[in-house]
Amino acid sequence: MGKKVLVIGEIREGSLRNVTFEAIAAARIVSDGGEVIGVLSGAGDLHEMGKEMVYYGADRVITVAHDNLKTYTSEGHAQAIFPVIEEESPEGIIMGHTSQGKDLTPKLASKLESGLISDTTEVAAENGAIVFTRPIYSGKAFEKKEITDGLVFATIRPNNIPSLERNDALEGEVTTKDVDVKDIRTIIKDIIRKSSDGVDLSEAKVIVAGGRGVKSSEGFEPLEELAEVLGGTVGASRGACDAGYCDYSLQIGQTGKVVTPDLYIACGISGAIQHLAGMSNSKVIVAINKDPEANIFNVADYGIVGDLFDVVPKLVDEVKQM
Ligand code: FAD
Repeated sequence: MGKKVLVIGEIREGSLRNVTFEAIAAARIVSDGGEVIGVLSGAGDLHEMGKEMVYYGADRVITVAHDNLKTYTSEGHAQAIFPVIEEESPEGIIMGHTSQGKDLTPKLASKLESGLISDTTEVAAENGAIVFTRPIYSGKAFEKKEITDGLVFATIRPNNIPSLERNDALEGEVTTKDVDVKDIRTIIKDIIRKSSDGVDLSEAKVIVAGGRGVKSSEGFEPLEELAEVLGGTVGASRGACDAGYCDYSLQIGQTGKVVTPDLYIACGISGAIQHLAGMSNSKVIVAINKDPEANIFNVADYGIVGDLFDVVPKLVDEVKQM
């Protein structure tokens, strides 16, 4: 018999994050023909976003809106979501492995006295058990976790489990639950964002990343141009961030963001193990480096030995002609 699985949706700047739809696809596998219920917490009218979750495969959606949920706090959102979990008693809960997911799910898991499998990249139903795959040792190996009994609670890494195709003809109820969210000890008064083109690195399909080889902040300009013509965004190694060529919000790696784009173009990056930890699971890796011995070539699908300042503008011209 199928399971009842709850998907915790995530709102960012007034829209649902893509990983919400990927979580619905994962929940459909976990539910094994059972019911997938979306839950959304925030402020204002969440009905349209609830409908969007239905279009991507949720059977129904429960929204919890409250003024205290205008900005994210784990305390507020846990207060909003926990009563829904108590009422629905799901057999599975799935959320994106984002900053919010990493913050909120352990709090919920401890309240539920449940385990939590975090940062999974694959989910499958095999012989009656749910099997999650997750990278370990900074992506050098993968472990499989099989759950045969009890609550299946997991976070999924963005960009790994394809979402189902949107179908606006799908119907499902979007209901509102009244929850009194109170006693939030953390009040977020203001969010000051670093300027960016708005594409979240962890959800980007194409990333053009620069390392110390770009030599200056101006050296990032050809990379930005390449990212733009490819519809992607720019990332960086810690070497480039430490040198002051770009902001730390762009750092990819063990102590930066973990990314899995369809295409990762590493420019002037040596391929230190700490950098590989954040990008080696990208679907296609292209490395541009003038040192043919650079370690980045060991993980690259395509390698270009050359000066990035010659190669990148040529790639921009080629792409523009396509
Ligand atoms: P370098 O190693 O200096 O490499 C520069 C490369 O550019 C060289 O290979 C060179 O051949 C090439 N190059 C130079 N000029 C050109 C040119 N004109 N055209 C083409 N190629 C050129 N690093 C991360 O990236 N992310 C992390 O999250 C991270 N976390 C860390 C955590 C810890 C605890 C520690 C100890 C280190 C961490 N590091 C991290 C740092 C990491 O070890 C490396 O120092 C860093 O990744 C090196 O950055 P880089 O490849 O840009 O620079």
